[in-house]
Amino acid sequence: MASGCSLVWIGALLLGLGASPARAFQFQHHGYEEMVRALFAVQSQCSYVTRLYSIGRSVEGRHLYVLEFSDNPGIHEPLEPEFKYVGNMHGNEVLGRELLIFLSQFLCEEYRAGNQRVTALIHNTRIHILPSMNPDGYEVAARQGPELNGYLVGRGNSRDVDLNRNFPDLNGLMYYYEKSNGKNHHLPLPDNWEVQVEPETLAVIKWMQNYNFVLSANLHGGAVVANYPFDKSREARVRGKTIYSATPDDKIFQKLAKTYSYAHGWMHKGFNCGDYFEEGITNGASWYSLTKGMQDFNYLYTNCFEITLELSCDKFPPASVLPREWLANREALVSYMEQVHHGIKGMVYDDNNNPIGNAAISVASISHDITSGVDGDYFRLLLPGTYTVTTSAPGYQPSTRTVTVGPAEATQLHFYLKTEPKGTNLNVKVPQGKKSPSPPAKAGRFPEQSSNPSLFHKATESEGRKEDHVTCVTDLCSCEVHFL
Ligand SMILES: [Zn+2]
Repeated sequence: MASGCSLVWIGALLLGLGASPARAFQFQHHGYEEMVRALFAVQSQCSYVTRLYSIGRSVEGRHLYVLEFSDNPGIHEPLEPEFKYVGNMHGNEVLGRELLIFLSQFLCEEYRAGNQRVTALIHNTRIHILPSMNPDGYEVAARQGPELNGYLVGRGNSRDVDLNRNFPDLNGLMYYYEKSNGKNHHLPLPDNWEVQVEPETLAVIKWMQNYNFVLSANLHGGAVVANYPFDKSREARVRGKTIYSATPDDKIFQKLAKTYSYAHGWMHKGFNCGDYFEEGITNGASWYSLTKGMQDFNYLYTNCFEITLELSCDKFPPASVLPREWLANREALVSYMEQVHHGIKGMVYDDNNNPIGNAAISVASISHDITSGVDGDYFRLLLPGTYTVTTSAPGYQPSTRTVTVGPAEATQLHFYLKTEPKGTNLNVKVPQGKKSPSPPAKAGRFPEQSSNPSLFHKATESEGRKEDHVTCVTDLCSCEVHFL
């Protein structure tokens, strides 16, 4: 994995570090106020390449702040992929929150110092960092502190709901469609889903609806391993036994997980916290099955590929280990972001060179389509190899092309779809027979969010919500004995 090219990159990164001393870092735990101050400070120091916005509020009213890095903050540039990191969705798993604050400070400092690798990353990627998805739970855990923190204290939000068991369950529908040749991507949300999820979950789902994310990771603690989808087992009734539950993109997910584990100081060694994971990675369901998790939801509802990073045995480690943890994760955090630039990407146009949003991009032999965004651009993560790719959209003739993907930058592959002749069957035929055509673009799908955060608050603040309205609908829930 360490090609000559990547070694040069690592060298460049270290060189950049030397140029901007790490003494600006304060390796401490950040309570809510301190975290907000730290994020605002980064935004102020790197105002040309950052934007701080809120995607909504927690139950107790704390903002869910996201720091964006981009050469054009607040703007989606066609063919520039969107990436996200989410930390601290379990309030008592705090290392990810600190690492994402450090990462924000690091990106800003290195950018200012002229680090070529960081500069290229920020200029070619739109990076969104949400250090804490569960700021209320964090405060509960932090009141006990690192020494006394119980295994579950502060895990849930302030209504004690586990946010990583709170997303709409789309796996059941996916597994049904796999058998019935149904839709293989962007599965529909259940009716009234908004009132079945917590405010923090609602905010994150609306965030996903508003940005065409390509790659993501959510950061946890309690083990040291990179966990990839599916988390939910296909064999819902098997108890006491775990079964690997592969996505159609299993090989890509394994490579993404290994990118992190091998760039991490010790994750790849496998023996950590009393567990052993070969190469430091695991399929979620083969470890233990869980329902309504965030990573499966990303894959089934959006174009985004997300993995779950378990980063520390101790969920609330003492501040004294933070420098060591930062050094162990720094390269991995950067390398993982760079993975968003692999595979293929391109534009989908009509006869008049107008972009076509929500076109389906299908890769032969991988039964999981992705779609173009409102600007007509698409991003399809793929391993090196030769692929047959078909793009289709209602009202247009599908177009099929063959492309070879190399190990470096994403290969650009643009599609020009001809309008379906009048009088012909408008049902789009897609080779592969494994899917039905996508529905027309939903109004407002992936619209660019206003840079005025108050517009977004309105949409995500909910009132008068009933407590304890999330019910467990599968028998798997009772089997969940791990809480990571
Ligand atoms: Zn967790």
